Amino acid sequence: MTRTIVIGAGIVGLSCAYYLAQAGKTVVIVDPTPEGDKASFGNAAGLAVTECVPAGVPGLLFNMPKLLLDPLGPLFLKPTHVRSMLPWLIEFQRSSSKKRVLEIAPALAALNDRTYADFAPILRDLEYEQHVHNKGCLVLYNDESSFEKDRFSWDLKAQHGVRFERLNSGEVRELEPDIGPRKQFGVLEPDWSHISSPKQLMDRFLNWAKDQNIEFIRETAVTLERTQDRASVQLGNGDLLEGECVVVAAGAWSKSLAASIGDKCLLESERGYNTTFRTPGISLTRELLFAEEMFAVTPIVEGLRVGGAAEFAGLKTPPNFERSHALAKLASKMLPDLQTDNGDQWMGHRSATPDSLPVIGQSPKTPCVHYAFGHGHLGLTQGPTTGRLIADLVLQREPVIDPKPYGIDRFA
Ligand SMILES: Cc1cc2nc3c(=O)[nH]c(=O)nc-3n(C[C@H](O)[C@H](O)[C@H](O)COP(=O)(O)OP(=O)(O)OC[C@H]3O[C@@H](n4cnc5c(N)ncnc54)[C@H](O)[C@@H]3O)c2cc1C
Repeated sequence: MTRTIVIGAGIVGLSCAYYLAQAGKTVVIVDPTPEGDKASFGNAAGLAVTECVPAGVPGLLFNMPKLLLDPLGPLFLKPTHVRSMLPWLIEFQRSSSKKRVLEIAPALAALNDRTYADFAPILRDLEYEQHVHNKGCLVLYNDESSFEKDRFSWDLKAQHGVRFERLNSGEVRELEPDIGPRKQFGVLEPDWSHISSPKQLMDRFLNWAKDQNIEFIRETAVTLERTQDRASVQLGNGDLLEGECVVVAAGAWSKSLAASIGDKCLLESERGYNTTFRTPGISLTRELLFAEEMFAVTPIVEGLRVGGAAEFAGLKTPPNFERSHALAKLASKMLPDLQTDNGDQWMGHRSATPDSLPVIGQSPKTPCVHYAFGHGHLGLTQGPTTGRLIADLVLQREPVIDPKPYGIDRFA
């Protein structure tokens, strides 16, 4: 069997399929619900190429108790879930040390720096180029002193070549007149972009794959089989699917597939929420990030998308849409003319590693298995480069970037 099996039809799986197909591989995609509503369909639409600072930074653990006090605040750990995620939390703490953060940032920057180059051929083939809006991102602070508290992160970004410009209150409103008086200081990151609609992009990507005669198998991959020169996937319907290579790109659901061939990784679902207001009554030009409150607002074709939250409650707990309400309430305070009727709520699972680095590369145990998951907040941004890198590794070409920092063996 010379086909390559890709498990998962999110932005990461489709990007892998794209670059493998471009290299002449016959690709089969396994996904029970390819036209789904997972993270790739409902995210905040940002090509967040400036985000080279991991979630865990020195000092964050000190602030965590305060963040956890509000049950509808930006961070929530479901009490009954904490025990099972203890190893992840311990590794998160270890990864938040200054030494580790200084190692992680260049690895994130290496992926982000390739985003536009590796997205370009995909956007061209999907005829979606005109839907990338190079308007930058505006990060908003209460005042300059709150910006200074984030100095470590901004200095780190500057060290990695991220461009940004500080803006006073008047300059912020010149760019975005609908921002209310609470935010008196801003930082513009001009290299960030947003797309018109993650769902539109995914729909076009799926159509492109079908036009290329890429076969879709609408089944769940249950386990991988361990062989040296052949890859096998046990499907939910009992069939055994064989190929020359398997790429695991099942987002937050990837951990058990890796475990089935003995590859350990630390992966949690970091659940995010948003509401898309169809008739917001205000208009924004670019994505806004509210730094203290930790949420984002993006103008997309479906309306104004208000989202954020990091809820750790596992894959099976039903959504708590009170979180979307809380975010909408916050947004109304920051954008006083926002009309919050006609909102569509959504929850999605980010696949989160404790060091904010994705897992990309070959299985140390089974060479014909490759991993492509764990992109956390940056899967839309880093998906295409992940696809390119996976194709390089499968084809044993010179990799476009050094894959070492992303290897699953870091969890061994
Ligand atoms: C609220 C929110 C806002 C975000 N904003 C941004 C942003 O602005 N910019 C950015 O870059 N990123 C953002 N992200 C992150 C980004 O959406 C994700 O990192 C990205 O979509 C992950 O893509 P994926 O293909 O790995 O996973 P997913 O989109 O989750 O897709 C995984 C696929 O695998 C399938 N699958 C699962 N298990 C199996 C199995 N056993 N067998 C077969 N198939 C399986 C699922 O059906 C699904 O189709 C955001 C995420 C959230 C939740």
